[in-house]
Amino acid sequence: MTVRDEIARVLASGDRSIRELAVIFECSEREVVQHLEHVSRSVRAKGMRMYVLPAVCMKCGAEIRVSRIRNVRKCPKCRSTHVEPPRFRIR
Ligand SMILES: [Zn+2]
Repeated sequence: MTVRDEIARVLASGDRSIRELAVIFECSEREVVQHLEHVSRSVRAKGMRMYVLPAVCMKCGAEIRVSRIRNVRKCPKCRSTHVEPPRFRIR
């Protein structure tokens, strides 16, 4: 199995953040983003989809949706860095 297959398997069993995947697969968050971009395309061929759960600001409660695969470190509304990051899953 390749790392990307492993990531797809992990995300099919539950949602994970970019940081969590970086820890699990011992790579940088930047590498995780690259893997996720690839995985989101490859699972489509198998009739599945990658879903992105929005980031949530822990200070003002704003839901922060991302239009591409990336992490969120700062709330665009109140500028707080106390942000629960976006989470990814495959179904
Ligand atoms: Zn906020």
